[in-house]
Amino acid sequence: MAQRCDFTNGNLIDDKYQVEKVIGEGTFGKVYAVKDHTGSLYALKLLRLWEIHPDLRKGLINRFDMEYETGLIKSEYLVHSFSHGLVKGNPYIVMEYCGGGDLLKASKGGLIDYTVVATCILKGLKALHSNGKVHRDLKPENVLRKNDGTFALTDFGISGDRNKRMTERNIFGKPKQLFGTYAYMPPEQLRPTHRDATVLPTTDIFSFGVTMYQLITGELPFGPLSDESELPQYLHNAREGKWNIKLLSKKDAKEWSPLIEGCLHPEIEKRVQTADQALTLVPKYKDTVEGSKQEIKGYNTKIVNGVLLRIMQGEQYGREYRLDDIINEQRPILHLGRKDYGIENNIAIKEENSSYISRYHCTLELDYDSGDWIIRDGQWRPGFSSAWRRSTNGTYVNSTEVSDKGMPFRPGDIISIGEVKLRAEGY
Ligand code: ATP
Repeated sequence: MAQRCDFTNGNLIDDKYQVEKVIGEGTFGKVYAVKDHTGSLYALKLLRLWEIHPDLRKGLINRFDMEYETGLIKSEYLVHSFSHGLVKGNPYIVMEYCGGGDLLKASKGGLIDYTVVATCILKGLKALHSNGKVHRDLKPENVLRKNDGTFALTDFGISGDRNKRMTERNIFGKPKQLFGTYAYMPPEQLRPTHRDATVLPTTDIFSFGVTMYQLITGELPFGPLSDESELPQYLHNAREGKWNIKLLSKKDAKEWSPLIEGCLHPEIEKRVQTADQALTLVPKYKDTVEGSKQEIKGYNTKIVNGVLLRIMQGEQYGREYRLDDIINEQRPILHLGRKDYGIENNIAIKEENSSYISRYHCTLELDYDSGDWIIRDGQWRPGFSSAWRRSTNGTYVNSTEVSDKGMPFRPGDIISIGEVKLRAEGY
C-alpha cells in the first residue's frame, strides 16, 4: 500500500538518503537533492503513488521502471540512474545530480554555446537510438545542465513506450502540459492511426530541431503558441514545413539553418535520419571521437546484389537480413513474424512479450518481372484450416498501412511491425 510521504530538508529517505533540498515537482513525481552516507550528491525522484488512482498505478510504475532502466544506458549524455527502491510503498529512482538546471533555465541565465548543446543532445539521442529507444518527449525542460557545463537528456518515462504521451496525460487532465508538448511533436505523430508506426529516431530529430530553434531565437519555429487558439495554425505550419527562417538570420545564426531545416522537414523520409547525420550539420562541430565519422556514411540506396532489411529499432538492433540471399529460386517468398515454437519465419523477430507482432505477421515476395520486393500483410497458413491470415496490428511502409494485396518497398523505406522498425537498403 502506498502511503503519503512528504520529505523536507534533513529527512532520511529509505534510511539511506538525506534530503538537502526539494528541487522541483513534475506531473507525478517530486525531485529532491539528496546525499548518501559518503556525502555524494544525487537527485532522487519519488513517484507520488499515494496520490494516484489505484487503477492507474500499474501503468505508471511500469513507466517509472522504464525510466530507471533507460538511465542505465552508459552515456555521459543521458542522466544516469544509480539505484531504485520503495519508500512507504512509493517507488523512487536515485539519479545523477545535474546542478545547472534545465536548458530553458540555462538559456535565460546568459550566454550558452549552441554547438555544445546540440552536440550533447545529439550524442544523447544517438545513445538512446542505438539501444532501440526513442525519447519521444524531447524538449528544453528535459535537457539538464551538468556541473561540468555539458548537457544530458532526462525524463525517459515514455522512451520506447507506445501511446503514452497522449493517453496517460489526458487521463490525468494535465491539458497545459499536453498542450505544450505539441510544439515539439512531428506532424506524423498527430495522426492517431499512424502514431505507433512512426515512432522512430526521426521523431526525436524533429523535436531536436524545434528545441535548437527555440534556444537560438527564443521563439517556436512554426509561430506563436501561447494558448490553444494558436494551435491549429501552428500545426498547419508544421505540416507544411513553414518555419520562420528569417528569425535565425536576425539572430545572426544563419549557419544553423541547414541543420534546422533538415530536422524540421514534415516528411519523415526527407528529414535528417540519424543523430550522426545531424551532427555533421552542427556548425563548428569538430569531433572525430567515437568513430562517428565511420557511421556517418548512412546507408546504401544502390541495389547491386539485392535488398536487405536492417533492424533500426528493436532488440536485434543493427542486424541485417539480406533478402536476396535468403530466398531460394523456386520460391521467392519470405515470411516475417514473431519467433515462436513450430513457426517457420525466415525473418524471426523476437520481441519478448510482444503483443504487437503476430506470429504470422507479413510476407515478402520478389517480383521477378519488375525486380521489386513486395510486402503483404499476413501470411498463408497451410494445413487443415488453410487461409490467408492478417496480422493483428498491421504492417506499415513509411507509415502507410499495407494491405494483404501488398505494396513494393525500396531502399530507404521504413517498415514498421509492432515495436520493430526495419529499413530497406541496397547491398
Ligand atoms: P514530468 O513527468 O511532468 O515531466 P517528472 O515527475 O518526471 O515530471 P521532472 O519535471 O523531470 O519530474 O523534474 C522536476 C524538477 O526536478 C525539474 O525542475 C527538473 O529540472 C528537476 N530535475 C529532474 N531531474 C534532475 C536531476 N537529475 N538533477 C537535477 N535536477 C533534476
